Amino acid sequence: MAKGKIKVTSENIFPIIKKFLYSDQEIFLRELVSNAVDASNKLKKLSSIGEYKGEVGELLVEVKLDKKARTISISDNGIGMTEDEVKNYINQVAFSGAEEFVKKYDDKTNSTGIIGHFGLGFYSAFMVAEEVEIFSKSYKDSPAINWKCDGSPNFSLKNIEKNERGTDVVLHISKDSDSFLDDKKLSDLLNKYCKFLPVKIKFGTKELTEKEGEGKNEKEIKKTVDNIINNTNPAWTKKPSGLKDEDYKSFHRELYPMNFEDPLFHIHLNVDFPFNLTGILYFPRLKQNIDLNKNKIQLYCNQVFVTDSVEGIVPEFLAMLQGVIDSPDIPLNVSRSYLQSDSNVKKISGHISKKVSDKLSDMFKSDRKSFEDKWEDMKVIIEYGMLTDPKFFERSQKYALYKNVNDEFFILDDYLKKINVNQKDKDGKTVILYTNDRENQHSFIQEAKNKSYDILVLDSPIVSHLIQKLESDKKDISFARVDADSIDKLIKKDEVVPSVISEKDEKSLKKSLEKILNKDKYTVQFESLSPDSSPFSITRSEFMRRMQEMNATGGGGMFGMGNMPEMYNMVVNGNHPLISKIISQKSSKKKSEMLKHATDLAKLSQGLLKGENLTMFIKENYQKLEK
Ligand code: ADP
Repeated sequence: MAKGKIKVTSENIFPIIKKFLYSDQEIFLRELVSNAVDASNKLKKLSSIGEYKGEVGELLVEVKLDKKARTISISDNGIGMTEDEVKNYINQVAFSGAEEFVKKYDDKTNSTGIIGHFGLGFYSAFMVAEEVEIFSKSYKDSPAINWKCDGSPNFSLKNIEKNERGTDVVLHISKDSDSFLDDKKLSDLLNKYCKFLPVKIKFGTKELTEKEGEGKNEKEIKKTVDNIINNTNPAWTKKPSGLKDEDYKSFHRELYPMNFEDPLFHIHLNVDFPFNLTGILYFPRLKQNIDLNKNKIQLYCNQVFVTDSVEGIVPEFLAMLQGVIDSPDIPLNVSRSYLQSDSNVKKISGHISKKVSDKLSDMFKSDRKSFEDKWEDMKVIIEYGMLTDPKFFERSQKYALYKNVNDEFFILDDYLKKINVNQKDKDGKTVILYTNDRENQHSFIQEAKNKSYDILVLDSPIVSHLIQKLESDKKDISFARVDADSIDKLIKKDEVVPSVISEKDEKSLKKSLEKILNKDKYTVQFESLSPDSSPFSITRSEFMRRMQEMNATGGGGMFGMGNMPEMYNMVVNGNHPLISKIISQKSSKKKSEMLKHATDLAKLSQGLLKGENLTMFIKENYQKLEK
């Protein structure tokens, strides 16, 4: 029996490893199972090139839990290891990695950045085990061996009887890792990390009921079969040409068993230059409720699950997508901040963004109607992409849609051609009228429609940011919500409606109105509009409102307007007959009663009459009915 000292300078590397990786202890299972899978794949490879002439048989990795003995074992029938290989790969290579690790992080005992994707390999076993044993028989004609190590740098190595090819790694679980001696826990971990590994993984057995016999003699029998926890051949590893739409949908259900809604469409990624990447991305149906915490994109490395926090790897806006990305080229053994600045990772991100854009463009070109039907469900993601990814913004100009109140869809360029002649402001810019709430802004929409103007429906939560971006991109357009001002002010008209009330009347009416209205909230504004326009209406400046909205949806306290009160204009249409009637009232009491009533109606129509004021208004109106 050989005894030896593992080559490390520090006597106590394992307590350090343990401490560092405390939060991520569970990855030991991923590391050991993927080693077993690698060993199986290597054997397959050797057999295919004629290096190995024996029977390969069915390759299987088995994970076993023995609660009594307090062990977890991972067994494979892969290539195995000879004594020399154990010396070279386990004693030297692996632990020299450990040494480096300790050197690098010795002084950063509190660092959390490194926890996560450090490629720990074999010795991650010591995070949960007080002793680790390897039983191995190589495919080569050499004696089987048993290696044992208790977490100190001392190990023992001896020859043993073992006839079957392959490796068993046995972990003697330490007291403080008791929680891993649990079927449910191991099963959950296997399901998280190993669900799509390319070699069958068995964990216990399960019972199946099967039918035997035919017709009358048919009977149900119970059968105990291996419990295989993984799908060795997941959809993303297959050729897109061999997959139907239904296959993609069923893979989506496999990924997210708790999700009951099929995705809108998918994108199959398949890149081999300048980096390797495969995967399937799904566009979920996203209305207003953006729940970023469920059904996230999962990142794999050669079918081993790595993480589902993919910031930095996929473009920010695509974090709202679902699906799988698998790349052996993403450096996983580094901290997240490093990952984000890695140029390869940046390229991947840019590439995915382009692929998504290409797919959207294809869909738009090949079946515009169906693209329009999906638009409402996918626009939030696309609009968010337009805001955060300049290249995506450019590409999206060809398919990003804008819907008007008649439910017709346009791309921006076409829309501008449609409205250009008709809708200009005083500076000659084309005015795009929009509403974000058809119900609440109904009267304004009606008013604009009556004048044959077109109105877009822009109702996603980030729309104020988006139009800001479009205005700065196009320069000669300006967006105005229908209630931003009276329509005749928003859009320049050739003929001016002359005013019918005198300046003196206007002044005195203004004074009376200011007495009635809250000065901090309302500014009185006289307009000479056509007599059939509303006598009183409430508008809100596009600029002020938009800035406030942008603050509310994340503009970083832009212009320090976070706490500004909401300001409105009470627009009085001097040409409306009601105004003349109010002016002609002799009794000033009656006059202010009328003004109060009329302005309350204007507020009511904008949903601005609330609380006590609303109660009073309703009460007074009932009393008037009684009289
Ligand atoms: P890595 O897998 O990154 O090389 P590890 O520390 O996990 O690092 O493993 C070191 C080496 O030990 C592997 O490269 C492999 O040669 C060998 N090894 C580990 N597990 C097995 C196994 N189950 N069967 C055969 N060889 C193994």
